Amino acid sequence: MNAQSPVDAVVWLVRDTCRLQDNPAFDRALEEAKNRSAILLALACLEPRRWKDEQFGLSRSGPQWRRFRAESLVALRESFERKNGRLWIAAGTPSDVISHFPLHVHVKTVVTDLPVAPDEEKENASLVALGLEVLAVQADELFDAAQIKNALDQLPSSFTKFRKTIEKKQGATPPEPIGAATPSTLLSQPWKDPDDLVTALAVAVSTSTEVEARGGEDAAQMIWRDYLESGALSSYKKTRNAFFGRTQSSHLSAWLAHGCLSARMMWHDILDYERQNGANESTYWLRFELLWREFFRWYSREAGFGLFRREGPSGQAVVYQKNPAGFLQWCGGQTGVDIVDAAMRELAWTGWLSNRARQLVASYLIYDLNLDWRLGAAWFESQLVDFDVASNWGNWAYIAGVGPDPRGGRIFNLESQAERYDSDQRYRTRWLNTQ
Ligand SMILES: Cc1cc2nc3c(=O)[nH]c(=O)nc-3n(C[C@H](O)[C@H](O)[C@H](O)COP(=O)(O)OP(=O)(O)OC[C@H]3O[C@@H](n4cnc5c(N)ncnc54)[C@H](O)[C@@H]3O)c2cc1C
Repeated sequence: MNAQSPVDAVVWLVRDTCRLQDNPAFDRALEEAKNRSAILLALACLEPRRWKDEQFGLSRSGPQWRRFRAESLVALRESFERKNGRLWIAAGTPSDVISHFPLHVHVKTVVTDLPVAPDEEKENASLVALGLEVLAVQADELFDAAQIKNALDQLPSSFTKFRKTIEKKQGATPPEPIGAATPSTLLSQPWKDPDDLVTALAVAVSTSTEVEARGGEDAAQMIWRDYLESGALSSYKKTRNAFFGRTQSSHLSAWLAHGCLSARMMWHDILDYERQNGANESTYWLRFELLWREFFRWYSREAGFGLFRREGPSGQAVVYQKNPAGFLQWCGGQTGVDIVDAAMRELAWTGWLSNRARQLVASYLIYDLNLDWRLGAAWFESQLVDFDVASNWGNWAYIAGVGPDPRGGRIFNLESQAERYDSDQRYRTRWLNTQ
């Protein structure tokens, strides 16, 4: 192809769905390119909002999150290359990057994920302002919006109402087979990788995590298959509240958050597992947790900016104290409350925490320190390898009592929780000895 001859392109804008398998946005982009006799251009942007910006003086992504995203994008690029295609990774907002495409590339359509939060909505609006058609495709949920209309009509509501309405339905949409990628060869010279990507890739993985968390679709499949083969799913409900353990829970959150693994594929794999090994409360419970993820995604869409207000989407009047020293002690695992300090040090070292530990440290920040819950959510955002806007801000708002089901928040008795889930003190000893 002559590099200068005009060419129509459909852009697949990769956001939080870093995979080819079971990815409706990617499939739609392929279809659009084919129907329009256009070339498919796969593009991922390292957006300043995530890679540079701050909130409450805290970075909007942590080194572990950036490394994991960089690995996931590089893995995606390799998958494309095996199909003679290419994923372009560029620094900047999507509208900046696309408006600097070479003049002979005529982009009319951008296909991307249906936004979960206002940031992506705003970015899409900037693309529309450039005169582009934006097709926002629901790419990472268990259910199609039309299929669960009754449950969505009730939002914002409680998780229980949402789940019960959904559970009356048929079940999650089956995963799609992988599409055949069209090579995107129009830019003959590969762009140089942005510095942020190169820096992120250089961050060493903490050796203290239970699972070596390398980004990418293949790694996700490996961890998930190992978990299924271990048989641990059959006792998931009994072990999931433990603070640590290789198979205490699935440890898949980072791959789900970066979209390296499809939740609905997991859902159907669990059903297969149940057919082969028998269903029980535990096998159901992992699907139950995936429904929490689903719930928060739809809840976040409904809440919009409300999810980031102090009084939350529910508009509860709340009063907090200012206690910068207390906040810093909490962040650094120096509060003097051993279970909180152990967890906060684990978070700082690994970027990951069990669900129970997340609940306890959140409860401490909100109800013992009496701080604005958004500080806690922002600290988590700056640390978590599996940061996911809907799950993080949704869970924080829920515990603070300003989110879904605002029944006055969730207050945990830290002493009895530590005694119950860490009776031999192994977890606390391990992390309190880590500086
Ligand atoms: C304050 C707070 C902040 C959180 N922030 C995040 C976040 O940024 N990203 C994130 O992925 N999870 C978040 N969670 C949810 C949950 O703690 C993690 O998903 C879970 O601990 C990850 O471990 P796992 O993959 O072994 O989970 P498993 O127990 O194996 O569950 C499987 C999957 O279900 C989903 N899931 C499980 N519990 C929840 C939940 N309560 N809410 C939403 N989804 C859930 C996750 O995708 C998880 O990977 C947060 C929870 C709390 C209390």
